[in-house]
Amino acid sequence: MRQMQTTIAIIGGGLAGLCAARHLHRAGVDVLLLEARERLGGRILSTDDAGAVSADGFDLGPSWFWPHAQPDIAALVQELGLPHFPQYSEGDVIFERMSRETAWRYRPTGHAPETMRLVGGTGALVAALAGGLPTSTRLVGTRVVALALGDAGVTLTTVTSEGVERVIHAEQVVAAVPPRLLGALAFAPALPPDTMRRWQQTATWMAPHAKFFAMYDRPFWRDAGLSGTAQSFVGPMGEIHDATTASGRAALFGFLTPGPDARALLGDAAIADACLTQLARLYGPEARRPRATLVKDWAADPWTAAASDRMASGHPQPSTAPWVTGAWQERLSLCASETSGTEPGFMAGAVHAAHRAAREVVVRVSGGRTTGGP
Ligand SMILES: Cc1cc2nc3c(=O)[nH]c(=O)nc-3n(C[C@H](O)[C@H](O)[C@H](O)COP(=O)(O)OP(=O)(O)OC[C@H]3O[C@@H](n4cnc5c(N)ncnc54)[C@H](O)[C@@H]3O)c2cc1C
Repeated sequence: MRQMQTTIAIIGGGLAGLCAARHLHRAGVDVLLLEARERLGGRILSTDDAGAVSADGFDLGPSWFWPHAQPDIAALVQELGLPHFPQYSEGDVIFERMSRETAWRYRPTGHAPETMRLVGGTGALVAALAGGLPTSTRLVGTRVVALALGDAGVTLTTVTSEGVERVIHAEQVVAAVPPRLLGALAFAPALPPDTMRRWQQTATWMAPHAKFFAMYDRPFWRDAGLSGTAQSFVGPMGEIHDATTASGRAALFGFLTPGPDARALLGDAAIADACLTQLARLYGPEARRPRATLVKDWAADPWTAAASDRMASGHPQPSTAPWVTGAWQERLSLCASETSGTEPGFMAGAVHAAHRAAREVVVRVSGGRTTGGP
């Protein structure tokens, strides 16, 4: 069996794992990031019309950040020099209250906090963070299946997509995996039952959800004075938005209201057809003729959703209680977005939690002697 050694192993290469790796690499600490999928980014996924990762993509995962309320991500975007632009919202909003009545059209009043998108999609964050890390610091297609605590550190058992087992010895572990998924790994010794229960009860934000995209040759709804924003109690999309890219590739997207089980029964083709019927009802016949469509069902993605995520639960609540207790306390730090003390569930939470976890492990590997660090 192959063996590797590192000072800090990071489990998960989503935004939190990448941010933690960046902090630690910049602090001069030896780090190895282990990602189960063949790609980095986790819930961040920006793709072309066909669903392939693209540098000018549609955001099948997160689209938005709110700079005024989320200073951590605003600072990261600025530091990485990533151009951004406001969510298109000029024009009227459509409200579909019930199927037997014509949809209402209204001009929104009042001021919503500015909602921003990244040029190229939120995948630009992933590309910029990964680009700043030597390729030797990350392994994709490598899932962690077990962690064993020893006197000198932690032994992680990993399996590649091809089924090859590898053992990694690390002084410290940063787990950048949603707590629910982390709880499914084999820990020796086991975590205290209260802690394990808390991990299992922490809902992974947006894991039960799915997005539908329709791509068009032009944003025709704008000509009709519509912003592309719609709310519907009729469905199958409950909330619809303009998803046109900064480069001008036109699209509308919506969050699906049928739950994971109903979606699995329907299948993507029937879902796409029902969504296009709704779009044509709201935006006219041109909406029936997209260039392409995409459905991304996060509940069907095992690297995001656990079985318990098939039931939608509430938004994670910020908490200052420790995420790790007992014997693991000095060797393991959690940093998925859900574990953040601010903006848990959001990209901003992932950035915040990663910084906190990086600080914790740097203090531990330096025996508490550090004054600076990440
Ligand atoms: C549809 C949708 C819309 C969203 N919209 C927004 C939005 O507009 N704004 C916003 O701020 N947030 C939004 N979010 C939330 C946002 O995506 C998350 O907060 C953020 O991406 C979480 O990053 P993370 O690194 O904490 O977790 P993740 O992105 O989930 O990363 C965890 C990583 O761990 C990997 N992994 C899992 N198990 C293992 C294992 N055993 N071994 C190795 N690797 C493993 C996974 O493959 C994944 O890459 C949305 C999410 C979704 C799904």
